[in-house]
Amino acid sequence: MHILVCVKQVPDTKIIKIDPKTNTLDRRGVPAILNPYDTHAVEEAVRLRARYGGKVSILSMGPPQAVAAIKKCVEIGADVGYLISDRAFAGADTLATSYALSRAINRIMKEEPLDLVICGKMAIDGDTGQVGPGVARRMNIPPLTGVKKIVEIDEANRKIIVHRKLEDGYEVLESSLPCLLTVEKEINEVPYSPLPNMIRAARYQPTVWTVNDLEDVERSQLGLKGSPTIVGKMFSPPKPEGGKRLTGTIDQQVSQLVDILLKEKRELLVQGGK
Ligand SMILES: Cc1cc2nc3c(=O)[nH]c(=O)nc-3n(C[C@H](O)[C@H](O)[C@H](O)COP(=O)(O)OP(=O)(O)OC[C@H]3O[C@@H](n4cnc5c(N)ncnc54)[C@H](O)[C@@H]3O)c2cc1C
Repeated sequence: MHILVCVKQVPDTKIIKIDPKTNTLDRRGVPAILNPYDTHAVEEAVRLRARYGGKVSILSMGPPQAVAAIKKCVEIGADVGYLISDRAFAGADTLATSYALSRAINRIMKEEPLDLVICGKMAIDGDTGQVGPGVARRMNIPPLTGVKKIVEIDEANRKIIVHRKLEDGYEVLESSLPCLLTVEKEINEVPYSPLPNMIRAARYQPTVWTVNDLEDVERSQLGLKGSPTIVGKMFSPPKPEGGKRLTGTIDQQVSQLVDILLKEKRELLVQGGK
């Protein structure tokens, strides 16, 4: 079974700040990491390879430094990696990103057909969750989003059964193969990488393709030119004001809470009546 995992290198959002003057991300000195959801996607692909055999390939679009994210995937256990990197891809929104990725997937599939594509549920910087479904649409394969468990793959009948997370539980979905999954973090726990993988990753160099290495590419659909999204404004949300702390015995606190809720209700009714 050939599994392809799409991964994104992202700034560590625990550290990143927004420059209040320019309203842009201040990336200075911020380390780049493998998108945490993608770490789980790679781990799941490696586990599937252990169950069903085959190969795990990685694909990323990004600047040359994104090689580090692919090396991290090799550390987790991936077999090979591809980076598409070119000025023509710069400034891509989710539409142009999924287009470029799908063109690269086409090339990979020419070398070796794919059974499954796995993406993270979302990237922690862009946060849209649109790239996975966008890639699936372009490849004309079913997208199964928010997957929290892969129950079974029936290779002979080309079928997969997964659990898809819902707000109040999960649903069981069956799909034909090939298909694309976007996975939740809870799908697995990523263990520390074994030493041989770390050594292999340190020496590993992924295949790097520019736009000229991809076939049937409509250049107007790439990068900034192919990106209809306009970022109107970026800002840090105001810090929530501290809540009111109730004191006294439990009974006193409950009584205070009821008074507050009734007062708020009265105020809302007065406002509604105006
Ligand atoms: C006008 C505009 C210009 C932009 N310019 C740039 C830019 O120059 N450089 C830049 O880095 N970002 C740029 N961005 C941000 C970029 O659009 C998004 O980060 C990117 O399209 C992915 O969207 P997302 O982060 O919401 O990913 P999501 O859709 O949340 O990601 C879901 C999953 O898709 C896969 N995925 C997402 N992105 C990639 C990728 N690049 N390679 C492989 N797999 C991926 C991963 O599996 C990920 O877990 C720009 C955005 C806009 C609107």
